[in-house]
Amino acid sequence: MIAIGVPAEGQDEPRIGLTPESVKRLVKAGAKVTVREGAGLRSHFSDEDYAEAGAIIAKTDADAVSDADVVFTVRRPSLSVAKVMKKGASLVGMLDPFSDAEGLDALAKTGVSLFSMELMPRITRAQSMDVLSSQSNLAGYKAVVDASAAFERALPMMMTAAGTVPAARAFVMGAGVAGLQAIATARRLGAIVSATDVRPAAKEQVESLGAKFIAVEDEEFKQAETAGGYAKEMSDDYKKKQSELVAEHVKNQDIVITTALIPGRPAPKLISKAMIESMRPGSIIVDLAAERGGNAELTKPGEIAEHKGVRIFGLLNLPGQVPVNASSLYARNLQAFIEPFIDKETKDLAIDWDDELAKGTAIARDGAIVNERVAEALGAKSAKPKRAEKKTAKPKSAQPKGGQTS
Ligand code: NAD
Repeated sequence: MIAIGVPAEGQDEPRIGLTPESVKRLVKAGAKVTVREGAGLRSHFSDEDYAEAGAIIAKTDADAVSDADVVFTVRRPSLSVAKVMKKGASLVGMLDPFSDAEGLDALAKTGVSLFSMELMPRITRAQSMDVLSSQSNLAGYKAVVDASAAFERALPMMMTAAGTVPAARAFVMGAGVAGLQAIATARRLGAIVSATDVRPAAKEQVESLGAKFIAVEDEEFKQAETAGGYAKEMSDDYKKKQSELVAEHVKNQDIVITTALIPGRPAPKLISKAMIESMRPGSIIVDLAAERGGNAELTKPGEIAEHKGVRIFGLLNLPGQVPVNASSLYARNLQAFIEPFIDKETKDLAIDWDDELAKGTAIARDGAIVNERVAEALGAKSAKPKRAEKKTAKPKSAQPKGGQTS
């Protein structure tokens, strides 16, 4: 029988790796689930809720994880958690694989298998496991809600006997998962919304949400999407043209939400100091790329900066500010990932190391880093596991491989 453990998260993380709803599903699928006492409280899930769903409540993190075959976390846990886990057990979470190389290496050296959910391949079969989508969607929503709360004017047009209140103008930069939700939310609140992206596929999506698409649509733009549906780094020439277009547009905007990212690179700088100065005092910028350096020149990660009356929100972990929904969706992502690896008959954990989802997300096994990109980032050589590869039989529930989307 597979044993799953959930330790408490660190001080600054309100989300939790499993919710009572997902515990129930996993217990039904044959798992024994142990949750650290009080671990769900900041997402408003009580120990009683977990116990009712079939979980065992453990007094300490060590008690929650020491017998587990799989440990679910939101963030990369402390080394002390991995050290008390069984050798060869799996740790699944958003492990932030490209930062704090030494910390990651130390985790790997405990002999625990590490799976980083951010590396989930973006294929049809993995859509229900895509933590970047489930969390970014909520971040896009919260960015607009925060901006509208801080904006000292109304968003919708209001026609009253005393006169007309004009609708606010909102501009969304980067129309991926977070950006599309930001557009939809700003539209629901009554703003006049426009958006930009460097991927041509984004144009139709933006327009279908009722927003105006603003972009330099040249030959380079038509080729700007990778097979995985992500943006490519654009040429200096394109960036210049894009910047001129954006500069003209931004000066008439009240709210700007930036979400632009390029995988594995720092966030592109899209809003210069001069553009910020061109905006009216009282305007708001919410920079969702703050964690990766920010899209705006004056963003201070983790802070609300102010420049000539324009406030720039560089808040971190916006999904963590909607922790009930964020935890629910995240837990379903983890559940969807692990369920196919539970053997239908024995109910044991049977990871198929040849499965592309396991391969894509695995970063360490048997004490060594097994993901080449992570090994490169660590400046170390990608080492193969010392033990002879023992192929585990494919679980019966494994689904057929899906095709590429978008
Ligand atoms: P992301 O978080 O990496 O980037 C956010 C957006 O910023 C992207 O749309 C990107 O094109 C845009 N961007 C980058 N540089 C820019 C620039 N200079 N100016 C303006 N915009 C810029 O992307 P994401 O939100 O994770 O999604 C990217 C794509 O992947 C979307 O098409 C999405 O629908 C697709 N997707 C597919 C799956 C799946 O198939 N499983 C899951 C999630 C998302």
